[in-house]
Amino acid sequence: VGEISLKDIYQIAKTSFPLCMRHLFEKVREDHHLKHGGRMQLGLFLKGVGLKLDDALAFWKAEFAPKVSAERFDKEYAYNIRHNYGREGKRTDYTPYSCQKIISSTPGVGDHHGCPYRHFSEENLRAALVRMGVSSRAVEDVMDKVRNRHYQLACTLTFEAVHGSSCDAGINHPNQYFIDSQRIMQ
Ligand code: SF4
Repeated sequence: VGEISLKDIYQIAKTSFPLCMRHLFEKVREDHHLKHGGRMQLGLFLKGVGLKLDDALAFWKAEFAPKVSAERFDKEYAYNIRHNYGREGKRTDYTPYSCQKIISSTPGVGDHHGCPYRHFSEENLRAALVRMGVSSRAVEDVMDKVRNRHYQLACTLTFEAVHGSSCDAGINHPNQYFIDSQRIMQ
């Protein structure tokens, strides 16, 4: 895995994040907050993308402002981020979540984690796909997979529609989506 600087994250989120991570990324920027499940799902993904610990702390701190003061951030949120990077507690180096884990999660009210293909309403999913630039015909193909509960295939079709390129291996991990996307974009 390569390194990604903080300033590059904003551009790369638009081009190479799968929908689950785009959604979390947009939400934290909009709401200046994310609940625990969302912070874990996005935080570990960003770590997998190559965001270093110091940049991760700077990212969350900047996005949580002004709702969360710098002082409160250091007290309440920094520990968990360092923990995810294996710098606290048992010093486990936590790995980013797979699609299977995300799809089987159970987001509650006010949560933004989970897999949009599984957890969004049909209306919200359609709108999100259009915002990603998926053509209306491809949207129908994606919705067809969703109706048959083939969420990862729906994500694979989205990948193919957005990149104009096939993804024969299919999508089974958000970080794999990212790596495959970057390969095409570069
Ligand atoms: Fe994210 Fe995987 Fe769902 Fe795609 S299939 S949106 S990568 S959890």
